[in-house]
Amino acid sequence: MTTEHLKSLIRTIPDFPREGIRFRDVSTLMVDPDGFTEAVERMASIAPQDIDLVAGIEARGFLFAGAVATKLSAGVLMVRKGGKLPGDVHGRDYALEYGDDRLEVQVGNVPRGARILLVDDLIATGGTALAACELMEDAGAEVAGAVFLIDLPDLGGAQRLRDSGLDTHALISFE
Ligand code: IMP
Repeated sequence: MTTEHLKSLIRTIPDFPREGIRFRDVSTLMVDPDGFTEAVERMASIAPQDIDLVAGIEARGFLFAGAVATKLSAGVLMVRKGGKLPGDVHGRDYALEYGDDRLEVQVGNVPRGARILLVDDLIATGGTALAACELMEDAGAEVAGAVFLIDLPDLGGAQRLRDSGLDTHALISFE
């Protein structure tokens, strides 16, 4: 499948969740068997080697992370929004365009020294991904790379990750 075909499976919804935002809806790619398979295979093939754990960011990131983890024979880790995980957690607050949010992982599920691959459906400003990286590092793990289905390069997030030294890839760009 060509990259253009893969891209054509993503639906754009104007004015969601707010007026002026063009939401890139990956659900239409996910329900397409060939499209989802192709996306997951490509994401796994550009990931760095010897990954112990694939960390998926809630919620669409979970679905890609789980599928990529099976290709890499790695475990899968949930990076959830604040207050959803039981037991002791590591947490990080981060700024969104409007307001703040929080990401958490369960203490003990991120082994010290583990090589982690971060996976999400889309990177925009990079705030979410950078907070997730900091969370892994707080837990003593190494983020070896980050893979996204979509990059919005005008928002600069992937570049911010690369500038911080992270091996960062995306399959599709929307200018
Ligand atoms: P960032 O923190 O600005 O990079 O935003 C990335 C986060 O917001 C990711 O977890 C995405 O799932 C979500 N996100 C932002 N814009 C979109 C979009 O257009 N489609 C799907 N997810 C989006």
